[in-house]
Amino acid sequence: MGRRIGILGGTFDPIHTGHLIIGQEVLRRLGLERMFFMPSAEPPHKRYPEMASVEARAEMVGLAVVDNPAFELSRIELERPGTSYTVETLRRLRRRLGAGVDLYLVLGADNAVEMPTWCDPEGVLGLAQVTVVDRPEFDRRQIAPHLARHMTFLETPLLEISSTDIRARVKAGQPIRHLVPEQVARFIETHGLYR
Ligand code: ATP
Ligand code: MG
Repeated sequence: MGRRIGILGGTFDPIHTGHLIIGQEVLRRLGLERMFFMPSAEPPHKRYPEMASVEARAEMVGLAVVDNPAFELSRIELERPGTSYTVETLRRLRRRLGAGVDLYLVLGADNAVEMPTWCDPEGVLGLAQVTVVDRPEFDRRQIAPHLARHMTFLETPLLEISSTDIRARVKAGQPIRHLVPEQVARFIETHGLYR
């Protein structure tokens, strides 16, 4: 058995407590050595005016993971401009980490439902063990069966936390304390994000 490395990709606009709890839970349940939090450079499926810059999103991830020695910010998708396809990122990660590494790609159920729209979903499933965690309002039965057959499903606590909600709260002047790590809340405040 190789080294087991988890990857949690996302827009992280901003990273929130839900991401961290899921990351820790998967790490423990699968006995992983590390969890990479991997911000996306250019999310192919969303755009909105108040979106934070790539650098701000990555910096917030860095601030959020600093206390956990098993967590790490991965800048692999930020090294190249433009859209990174997950399948391509996984190939690059594999080359970089060398043989004897087992990759576990963590997806929330909402993300897993979208997988048929990805570039080469079968390729992704061949490069990493895709591990799906539940998310409120997303039914895992909505996941394409031909892909779901090759995924692992973990029952994890249902966390009603989303970056969309956090951005809306900031915009409305409502508190986000405890929904994001304190350092992240301070960063959002200092940089005037999501106003
Ligand atoms: P947004 O509302 O902007 O889409 P988000 O909260 O969904 O933000 P993302 O950066 O899009 O955060 O998510 C990264 C990954 O984490 C995705 O696979 C997503 O499904 C998963 N995820 C995010 N929040 C949760 C949650 N509360 N429970 C389970 N999975 C989650
Ligand atoms: Mg999302």
